[in-house]
Amino acid sequence: MQKPFTKKNFKCDRYCGECCKKLTVKLTKSDIAKIKELEFKEKDFVDDNLAHLNIFFIKNDHGCFFLNENSNGKFSCKIHDIRPKTCRQYPFFGKNPKPIKSCLPQDLYLTAFKTV
Ligand code: SF4
Repeated sequence: MQKPFTKKNFKCDRYCGECCKKLTVKLTKSDIAKIKELEFKEKDFVDDNLAHLNIFFIKNDHGCFFLNENSNGKFSCKIHDIRPKTCRQYPFFGKNPKPIKSCLPQDLYLTAFKTV
């Protein structure tokens, strides 16, 4: 049986891209500036529907704008080295996150509402 993952022992080895297909990732102004340095155009990757509140997200129509499907069927991030904080923290958030059995978003979501 698979031991639960902790922040210390977790390492993504699926490359299924499920998190990047389902997460809504917030961008800081600094994130946007760094990404633009990689020649991406702001209008292409920024979801500015909440710009009036100074809140910006990465566009995610059927997956994150930066999610790349490789020829072997696995997924990677086009901006991995400068990915936003949410992406760097996933799937552990907060100071003392609980161990998890699966990093899939649907499992994390169900775990969050389990009472046992
Ligand atoms: S920026 Fe990269 S790591 Fe973050 S959701 Fe998009 S593809 Fe995934």
